[in-house]
Amino acid sequence: MTAEEERYGRQERVPCFGPGGQERLASAALGIVGLGALGSRLAEDLARAGVLRLRLIDRDWVEIHNLHRQHLYGEDAAREAVPKVLAAAERLADIRKDLTLEPELADLDPSNADRLLGDLDLILDGTDNFQSRYLINDWCAKNGVPWIYGACVGTEAMAAAFRPEGPCLRCLFPEAPPAERNPTCETAGILPSAAATAASLQLSLCLRLLGRPEDPPPSYLLVAETWTPEIRRLRFPEGPVDTCPTCTEGSFPALSARLGSRAMTLCGRDAVQITPPEGPPPDLEVLASRLPPETEAVLQAGMLRLRIPEGRITLFRDGRAIVQGTKDPGKARALYDRWLGT
Ligand SMILES: [Zn+2]
Repeated sequence: MTAEEERYGRQERVPCFGPGGQERLASAALGIVGLGALGSRLAEDLARAGVLRLRLIDRDWVEIHNLHRQHLYGEDAAREAVPKVLAAAERLADIRKDLTLEPELADLDPSNADRLLGDLDLILDGTDNFQSRYLINDWCAKNGVPWIYGACVGTEAMAAAFRPEGPCLRCLFPEAPPAERNPTCETAGILPSAAATAASLQLSLCLRLLGRPEDPPPSYLLVAETWTPEIRRLRFPEGPVDTCPTCTEGSFPALSARLGSRAMTLCGRDAVQITPPEGPPPDLEVLASRLPPETEAVLQAGMLRLRIPEGRITLFRDGRAIVQGTKDPGKARALYDRWLGT
């Protein structure tokens, strides 16, 4: 018995996966965008399952409130605010010594998508916002790469596999839900069981897409309510939707820098202005009512102001925001997404 057979024999023995699935997994290059609750768990599971090349893309640093649900990080990394890609790479290297890791400390945007996502066989979504997901969707559709969507908030988990032939994420959700209907882990909370379920469903879809390309998973949006608990399967449209610009016209709106969100450091100030992508403006009243009390959210003169541990966010009616407490555009975007959702 070879060392590989000894190591992976128990998953090769599962008939639907088999030694062929193991070989394909070992020869694939996978990318994970976002190393939060979903991405950090997926990275660990994939490293253990036998993936040998893993690109890790994240713009965030480890914080103490991550530790209850995010794998690979500990108190030391939180105290020293270590970038997640570096903390994760260090732990993953210990799982398999010859694993090729490509940590990318970066905020995925239209200008760097080719560099960050190029040369990958499959991309896993560990992001926390629709804007990044549309970007992944459009890039993957344009470049013929499959990707796996995942999301979790509160007690709910979702996952879906998207293949280049469609339907795509835009076929299912033509536009992002407005911020007030899009709770985040900061505003609605998150149980680790919801994150584990979403990542586990993503992993399952990934193993089947890679391991059995001739028998891909059916097109369903999987929605798990982990408290009840219950899993529902919502069927995709049979093929690409007629009105989807990406599938029918070969148009990729999220890859256009003009339509993406922009972050700009304000000269001489510890603040960044965020201009969101085009779309319906947020409902500030509803958003204010959903924010936790410790944010001391105040709606005044057409502005919603809230306190966050890093500083303050002021949101205007058109969706534009000023994030105070940082000069770093990537960090400001992370805080905007975390508290307001996009
Ligand atoms: Zn589509």
